[in-house]
Amino acid sequence: ARAAAASAPITDGALADGAAIPLLANLGKPEGAEEAVELGAEGVGLFRTEFLFLSSNQAPTVEQQRESYIRLLSAFPGKKVVVRVLDAGADKPLAFLNDAHEENPALGLRGIRALQASEDILREQLTALAEADAATDADLWVMAPMVATVAETEYFVDLARDYGIKTAGVMVEVPSSALLADRVLAHADFASIGTNDLTQYTMAADRLLGSVASFQDPWHPAVLRLIREVGAAGRETGKPVGICGEAAADPLLAVVLVGLGATSLSMAPTALADVRATLLQHTLDDAKAIAEAALAANDAAGARAAAQAAAT
Ligand code: PEP
Ligand code: MG
Repeated sequence: ARAAAASAPITDGALADGAAIPLLANLGKPEGAEEAVELGAEGVGLFRTEFLFLSSNQAPTVEQQRESYIRLLSAFPGKKVVVRVLDAGADKPLAFLNDAHEENPALGLRGIRALQASEDILREQLTALAEADAATDADLWVMAPMVATVAETEYFVDLARDYGIKTAGVMVEVPSSALLADRVLAHADFASIGTNDLTQYTMAADRLLGSVASFQDPWHPAVLRLIREVGAAGRETGKPVGICGEAAADPLLAVVLVGLGATSLSMAPTALADVRATLLQHTLDDAKAIAEAALAANDAAGARAAAQAAAT
């Protein structure tokens, strides 16, 4: 029975009415690719590139990066692979890029801000990505972290296009870009919502600080409203809106996220099976009703309870 289960084909992510919701993997190293495929990942929704930079006190070479990206892309022929350019700073500090003396590093020079200030690093990364793209058959999408303004969106998307990147987008993980998602998506090819940081910045609670950990809950209706804003902008502009924060790995919250307009979900590969099974139990109309119930609550616990009641 075990062998039969292991060899049974894993279906693609879909709702009960057949609407496709691609289920993708979050990966932190190319070595995780094969396991993700075995667990049914239809592609990669977030490839974090920090590992290339964290192990050393200088930036990796273009060649070193290209090798890693080729290793990753080769595991997903014909599939979508979303690579995030370096997200340095705050919870991922880099000695050669970040100022260790910032008092509030989560509010400091991090993500796209740090890359814009050290543009050579971004240019080298885009060079390596474009070269890896040319050498492989995956459908490469590239996105920038911590984008807070329309100007940063334009800056990144235009630069990525200069390097021949065909699909360039941004992470929505700062409330300002969620609130202006229509204008962000006027420039970007896609948005991917990072619910970890979006929750941290919406609730003004450091995601690394145990004493305020209870605030770090993506079920909070304030966070859900921002996600709804991005979902609506995605529908208006006809552009994809993915989710790549931890929230997508919570099966009931995954249904809510789809109800709010998410068009794909990316998560730790071990979470894929449960999310796949739960999505199959609900139509898109169900998901919208469950999301409405969650949005109407006053707090995270209330939203979870309301969604649970609406889902049964
Ligand atoms: C997020 O913030 O939700 C996200 C996916 O990025 P990271 O956890 O790497 O900051
Ligand atoms: Mg983030």
